[in-house]
Amino acid sequence: MTSEPSIKIFDTTLRDGEQSPGASMNISEKMEVAQALVDLGVDIIEAGFPIASPGDFEAVRTIADNIRGAVICGLARSANDDIDRAWDALKGAEQSRIHVFLATSAIHREFKLKMDKDEIIRRAVDSVRRAAGYCPDIEFSPEDASRTEIEFLCRVVEAAIDAGATTVNIPDTVGYGTPAHIGGVIRTLRERVPNIHRAVISIHCHNDLGLAVANSLAAVEQGAGQIECTINGIGERAGNCALEEVVMALRTRHDHYRARTGIVTERLVPTSRLVANITGIQVQRNKAIVGRNAFAHEAGIHQDGMLKERRTYEIMRPEDVGLAKTDLVLGKHSGRAALADRAKALGYHLSGEQLQTVFEQFKILADKKKEVYDADIAALIEQEIRDVPETWTIAGYRLVAESGRTPTVTLSLKRGEEEATEEVTVGDGPFDALFHAVERVTGVEVVCRDFNVHSVTVGKDAQAEVTVEVEHGGQIFRGRGVSTDSVEASVRAFLNAVNRVAASLERAGTPLAPKVAGNV
Ligand SMILES: [Zn+2]
Repeated sequence: MTSEPSIKIFDTTLRDGEQSPGASMNISEKMEVAQALVDLGVDIIEAGFPIASPGDFEAVRTIADNIRGAVICGLARSANDDIDRAWDALKGAEQSRIHVFLATSAIHREFKLKMDKDEIIRRAVDSVRRAAGYCPDIEFSPEDASRTEIEFLCRVVEAAIDAGATTVNIPDTVGYGTPAHIGGVIRTLRERVPNIHRAVISIHCHNDLGLAVANSLAAVEQGAGQIECTINGIGERAGNCALEEVVMALRTRHDHYRARTGIVTERLVPTSRLVANITGIQVQRNKAIVGRNAFAHEAGIHQDGMLKERRTYEIMRPEDVGLAKTDLVLGKHSGRAALADRAKALGYHLSGEQLQTVFEQFKILADKKKEVYDADIAALIEQEIRDVPETWTIAGYRLVAESGRTPTVTLSLKRGEEEATEEVTVGDGPFDALFHAVERVTGVEVVCRDFNVHSVTVGKDAQAEVTVEVEHGGQIFRGRGVSTDSVEASVRAFLNAVNRVAASLERAGTPLAPKVAGNV
């Protein structure tokens, strides 16, 4: 047998992905994603940046303590406090990795760090040694590597490996690289760094020029053994290398790359949907692999060809990425076991109590709607696992909207046993009026940044899913509401966001200030 390289998949959805505006997740949401990543078969989960905030620390620690089946990684700058804090969060993991980074490009050395080349090397070596004193699995990233002089990059990488780095990651932090450029950097490292065989070379690409996947593949061609990526390619600005795309490229063009990953590709679509639902960042329709149209063959001549022989137009089978042929699953006579089964297939891990609540909701929905699809079930579950303390709940509302007139909303909300009602006649339309009413009753003022209504499935009786993004105290909060009635879904979504603001205000000791970003 020829030895075929196996490429490690390092998922950073919970760290780099979470840095996309509005994508922040709470601990229980992060736990759901982490468990789904294990089911997907990723090798390493970068769970967060422990020193960034108390919330980040808690999330990394909870994941390290509870998730089994993948290496759990935490990010740290090249500073003692960062590394100590990362280890504190990671030490409960089955296998831990500390990921240390330090900028190496001229522009960062000069303007950000104000350090010369020798100081950079000393700092990198000290940090890697300190981290290696805690655990044997150490990753080092020269931030902005793609814009670093290649001779200096070779020196830094050699020194980091000598100090104990077992993985050296080459980040294209600003998304500046092209395939030939990135491939050349990896090739040069392999040719010129004498101890390079002692470490795995990793690639970390941003998508500013739409080249993150292509650049990652170019790195693999030159011997990179790890790809850093995120589900749906989420991340700051244009995002990161999309896990599903790079994995399916390696698999579909195995004839060329001759490399394998441990990804269970049938879990790609369910994981993509989970992350989209949790972060509120929806996937564009024409997105490769996981977009709604990725396997839709609309054109007549294509359909004809498809019916005769699928391979005429299809390079991958939809079932290989976990796209079910039909997702019509349950109806009002379906029992709890059937629901539990579907929930599991969709990638959720529900407790008995959660299952019971979802089942009750499912029964109500199945009465309103004949056919309950996977997406409906996912929507119900998402609502249940969100784990936002419900400071306020809906007691009732009345909405009067007429063309040419300002709408009137009467809204009653409950806080514990107390009920408060307000009537407002304001706004540009019914939704605006509803939002004003929620603000009036709760006393929480927010700025609405985004408001989206879309149908979860198809048909007139489809459930509406409303997502809102609001700003309060310089922070973004998301809210989501699902109902067969779009007005009710909107009230729920807005209240969900306001409840998140309230929970954040009540959490003593957690500052609302923007947290530190890890720019790898
Ligand atoms: Zn990054």
